[in-house]
Amino acid sequence: MAEATTQKTTIEIEDLITVGALAEKLSIPVSRLIGELIKNGIMATVNERIDFDTAQIMVDELGLDIALERKQAETKEVVRHKPESSSKGRARPPVVAVMGHVDHGKTSLLDAIRGANVVKGEAGGITQHISAYQVDHNGRLITFLDTPGHEAFAAIREHGALLTDIVIIVVAADDGIKPQTIEAIRFARKAGVKIIVAINKIDKEGADINRVKQQLSEHDLLVEEWGGDTVVQPVSAKTKEGLPELLDLILLVTDIEELKADYDVPARGLIIEAHIEQGRGPVAQALVEAGSLSPGDFIVAGSSYAKIRNLETTDNKPIKKATPSMPVVITGFKSLPEFGDEFEVVKNEKLARSQSETSASSKQANDGRTDMGSNELIRLINRDRKLTEFNIIVKADVQGSLTSVIDSLKALDTEEVAVRVVGSGLGSISENDVYLAHTSNAVIYGFNVNLPTSSKQQASRDKVKIRLYKVIYELIDDVKAELSNLLSPEIVETELGRLIVKGIFKTTKTEIICGGEVTKGKLTVPALARITRGDELLAEVEAVGLRRGPSEAREVVEGEMCGIDLRTTKRIELQENDRIELFTREAVAREL
Ligand code: GDP
Repeated sequence: MAEATTQKTTIEIEDLITVGALAEKLSIPVSRLIGELIKNGIMATVNERIDFDTAQIMVDELGLDIALERKQAETKEVVRHKPESSSKGRARPPVVAVMGHVDHGKTSLLDAIRGANVVKGEAGGITQHISAYQVDHNGRLITFLDTPGHEAFAAIREHGALLTDIVIIVVAADDGIKPQTIEAIRFARKAGVKIIVAINKIDKEGADINRVKQQLSEHDLLVEEWGGDTVVQPVSAKTKEGLPELLDLILLVTDIEELKADYDVPARGLIIEAHIEQGRGPVAQALVEAGSLSPGDFIVAGSSYAKIRNLETTDNKPIKKATPSMPVVITGFKSLPEFGDEFEVVKNEKLARSQSETSASSKQANDGRTDMGSNELIRLINRDRKLTEFNIIVKADVQGSLTSVIDSLKALDTEEVAVRVVGSGLGSISENDVYLAHTSNAVIYGFNVNLPTSSKQQASRDKVKIRLYKVIYELIDDVKAELSNLLSPEIVETELGRLIVKGIFKTTKTEIICGGEVTKGKLTVPALARITRGDELLAEVEAVGLRRGPSEAREVVEGEMCGIDLRTTKRIELQENDRIELFTREAVAREL
C-alpha cells in the first residue's frame, strides 16, 4: 500500500497565547497540554500565557500534525509597572533582568555577579518565581531580578521585563543569536527598557564576538562602534572577564536614564514571590518601588495583609528599612499574597484588614465571572440536571504547582461530573486537612508534600483517602479516572428486528400473545419490545417467547411469520398492523 503523505494543518497563533486558547486551537484537551508543559518543566495554568516557541515545541512533543504560524500582531503599548522617574525623587538603583537563549549562561552570569554559587536545578526543575538580589559595585547598588528558571515562561518573563529598567541580553559567543534571544529582544523592546548585550563565553574556543555583533545588526541592534546605540560587553561568566565593565555599563545607563524615586512616601511595590515556610508562615519577596518600608508597618497586598514581622534582604539578613529598588523578604502576612500583587503601606491594622477584604471580595466576584466559562456555568446550566461532584482537597509544595493542579482539574469538568475543591493549601497534609476531608467526604491529593504520621493515623481512623504524587499528570489522570467512575453509564440501544402484527391470540393485564410477519432484521428473545401504532408509542414491554408454527423458536428472520409472547404491566389493546420493535438496552461505562 502506498504510504499516505501527511498534509500538515497550519494554525496561526499570536506571540503569546494562553494555554487554554492554544489547547482549543489544537483541538486537544487542555489537561493534555498542561501535562505536556509540566513534563517539560513548565508549570503553566490554563490562563497563563506561553510564547510562540514554547507552543511550537509542545506541538512537536505532542506529535501533532500541525504547523504553527506566527500571527503578526500589532505591537501593543505595554503599561509599565516600574517606578516613574519622579523629578522630586532621589536617585535609586536600577532594576536589571537577565534574559537570553537557554544555555547561553544567564544563571552562570547572575551567579558570577553575585559571587555565589547557587546550586543549579531545584527539585523537579519547576521553580517559577522571580527572586532577586542586590550587589554593590563601587559603592552603588544594582538590583538583579532572577527571572524564572524556565526559558519558556513567557508570561512571567514579560512581567519581569515590566519591573525592569535594564535588560541584559546574554548571547553565547560560540553560538550566536538564537530564537529565544530574538524573543528576549522583542520583550525588552515591547516593555521599552534599555538593552545591554552581554556576549558571554568569550573564553571558549569558537567564540566569535564579531559574528554576534553582525547578527545583532540584523535585528536592528547596531553596536556603538558601528555607529549604532546598542551597548555591548564581551564577558565570561567562567573567568569573570568583563564583569566589572558590565556593571560599569549598567551604572552608566542608570545615570543617563536618571532613575529616581520618592523615598518619603508610604512604601509601595510588587510581590515577586510568595511561599509558606515551616515555622515562619507566609513569606513573600517584594520589590520596593517607592517609599521606605520598615518592620511593624502595615501593608496590604491583594487580598492579604501583614504587620511586617521580619524585614530581610533576599539573603535573609534582617534590615530596619527598605528603600526603592530594594528586593526584600517580608513575613507576617495573614495569608499568602500572590505573585504580581501590588503592595502598599497603610496607616493601621484596621485599614489593612478592610482593604484586603475589599480586594478579596472583588477578586471573588471576578473569579466568579471568569469561572463562568467552566465550573459555575456548568453548574448553572445543570441546576435541574444532576451534576455529580467529586470533592477533593489539594495540597502542594508551592503556589505555582497548586494553581496548576487546580486549574488542570477544573478543566476536567463536564456537564455531569465536576471536581469540587473543598480545600487547598501549601505544605504537609495536616490533621486539619484530614478532618476537613472527613467532614466533606473528600479525597486528599498531595503534590510534592509530606504526610506526617499523625495525619496518616488520623486518616486511617477516619477512613479518609490520601493520594500522594510527584508527577502532576499522574495526579490529574487519577482524578480523571475517579470522575469517569462517577459518570452515569451510557445507555446503548441496539435494534434487533421489527414485526407487523397480523393477529392477536391472547390479551391479559400481564401478557399478550400475537402473531405477525418479521419486516426487518432478526427477532430473538429475551429482548425489550416497543409497540407503536402509526407515530404513537403505545408501550414498552418485554418479549419472552417466540414461535414458528407450533414449536418454540430461538430466532426468526425477515420475511418469516411467527408468534410472539410479550410480558406487560397493564392491559394493552393490540390491533392488527401495530408494529413491534425488538431491541436490547445496555449500560456501557464511559470515560472522560
Ligand atoms: P542558562 O541556561 O542561560 O542559565 O545557562 P547556564 O548558566 O546554565 O550555562 C549553560 C552552560 O554554559 C553551563 O554548562 C555553564 O557552565 C556554561 N557557561 C556559562 N557561562 C560560561 C562562560 O562564560 N564560559 C564557559 N566556558 N562556559 C560557560
